[in-house]
Amino acid sequence: MKRLLTTVTAVLFLASCSTKPVKTELTPSTDSALHSLPLKKLASFGHVRTVKDGVTYIDGILIVNKQIALPPTYAPGENPAAKQAVERLMAAGNSGGLQFVIRSGYRSYSEQQHLYTEYVARDGQQAADQYSARPGHSEHQTGLTFDIGSVASVNDFTVSFGDTPEGAWLQQHAHDYGFIVRYPEGKTFITGYQYEPWHVRYVGTALASELYKNNETLEEYLGLYKKKSQ
Ligand SMILES: [Zn+2]
Repeated sequence: MKRLLTTVTAVLFLASCSTKPVKTELTPSTDSALHSLPLKKLASFGHVRTVKDGVTYIDGILIVNKQIALPPTYAPGENPAAKQAVERLMAAGNSGGLQFVIRSGYRSYSEQQHLYTEYVARDGQQAADQYSARPGHSEHQTGLTFDIGSVASVNDFTVSFGDTPEGAWLQQHAHDYGFIVRYPEGKTFITGYQYEPWHVRYVGTALASELYKNNETLEEYLGLYKKKSQ
């Protein structure tokens, strides 16, 4: 009797001290039974979750969201690759007449704690949770995330930023520089955050383009959110 092999080998190239998205390579089994599975299901075999020093990676991609936190001790500072990419992004936009500025970048655990406490005092916890991350749950702690604004500043940090020339350009071109609009419109039920057209996360151009093309959040891509039809 022929033995059924259903092994999927996931090879992760984890850089020991890097917070950059690391290359993930999936080596699918040559087993015919596995290959006959629907693509979606096959892809779900490949999700590999690793936790290193309290930091969660899925398929080698650092993930922080409402459910998955970073430890208070995780303080990588600004990621150089992400910074370089955001500078290229802004230079491209600005050379076309836009006026991008960075409003916020790396933020430590304690800075987030301070902010969140202020927001809760001002608006109450329920409201604060709609727009602010709890300490340890902010993507800004990764050093891979930026809040982008425009020199005019009047629409900064508001949904209306998405309708400004800067916001519209960011929506269409962020992926060319390796960024995703992390909390897109219409995905609040997945991300837990209202639409934030100004908040971009660096994931590298390959993944950013893939997510953009498929209109997917990181949660969907990494199998953290199950569609109702599944
Ligand atoms: Zn932000």
